[in-house]
Amino acid sequence: MIEKYGMKLNDTVLAEPHQMGLYDDLMSKKAELAAGGGAQNSARGAQYMLPEKSVWYVGCVGDDEYAELLRRNCKEQGVHTEYRVDKEKPTGRCGVIITDHHRTMCTDLAAANEYKLEHLQQPQIWSMVESSKVYYVGGYHLTVCVPAAMAVAKHAAETNKPFLLGLSAGFIPQFFKDQLAEIVPYADYVFGNENEAKAWAESQGMDASTTVAQAAQKMAEYKKVNSKRPRTVIITQGTEPTLVAVQGEDKVREYPVLSIDSSKINDTTGAGDAFAGGFLAGVVSGEDVQTCVQKGQWLAKLSIQELGAAYPQPKQTF
Ligand code: ADP
Ligand code: MG
Ligand code: MG
Repeated sequence: MIEKYGMKLNDTVLAEPHQMGLYDDLMSKKAELAAGGGAQNSARGAQYMLPEKSVWYVGCVGDDEYAELLRRNCKEQGVHTEYRVDKEKPTGRCGVIITDHHRTMCTDLAAANEYKLEHLQQPQIWSMVESSKVYYVGGYHLTVCVPAAMAVAKHAAETNKPFLLGLSAGFIPQFFKDQLAEIVPYADYVFGNENEAKAWAESQGMDASTTVAQAAQKMAEYKKVNSKRPRTVIITQGTEPTLVAVQGEDKVREYPVLSIDSSKINDTTGAGDAFAGGFLAGVVSGEDVQTCVQKGQWLAKLSIQELGAAYPQPKQTF
């Protein structure tokens, strides 16, 4: 399948016309359906570790069965959703090919690409933004509606509330460099994996020998609007230690990941999303960085034992 659709192992790509057949192809092979959306996975993850009604989510879906599935899934997990419903495009899909512990992903954003600032600016939605305490925007959204992401980022900076940003995929720093440059100055926390950190370093003209730690440090020192909060950059590296660079610190901190028996790993899709969710829960609870990392790793470890970015029921406690 990976070869047939012109992908490489572990790719995270946006579907090109020649790859659109992948979805029906997967479904005809009885692929399983799991709720997704990178940031939405993190939202469900954070809610898993927080008191009831802590998390709400905005995004855009189509008027179809898949949207209903996402709504139901979020509701079951206690995440309140405020979707913009696009009448023309179907709900976005991500085809995931799982081979051993690798996941190769091909995303057709479809309706997910149709989020609009006007949706966020509706009085009842914007008042929910104003009464929220912590904000997270996934990097994928930078392909969709930068003004909506910026509205949230600016509100957070003006009110000195934490704004967190995910890099989501290597192609974001690579092909959405300007959009990223607009929002990173507002980010108090940035999440990424090793490939995304390297892609960002490359986009900044750093040479190929730049280490992941150096990339993280460079991003931590990138210009910042809200000077009341130093920027923290968190780079996960699969089974390798999680790196944390904090603006103004000369040493990058390292946190080994929680080991897991390889036979227990079911699907590593969304490991990074689950990590961000756990970390977010830590930030919401006012924990220090080390505890936030531990919460992230704990939730990621649970999630990779499930199919998709899912969290086990009955609920386990940190
Ligand atoms: P992404 O899904 O964005 O590529 P990573 O692969 O870096 O993110 O995974 C995020 C986190 O999930 C890691 O820091 C680690 O805590 C956990 N994790 C991922 N893969 C494994 C694994 N094979 N064994 C144990 N933990 C893992
Ligand atoms: Mg990875
Ligand atoms: Mg990721």
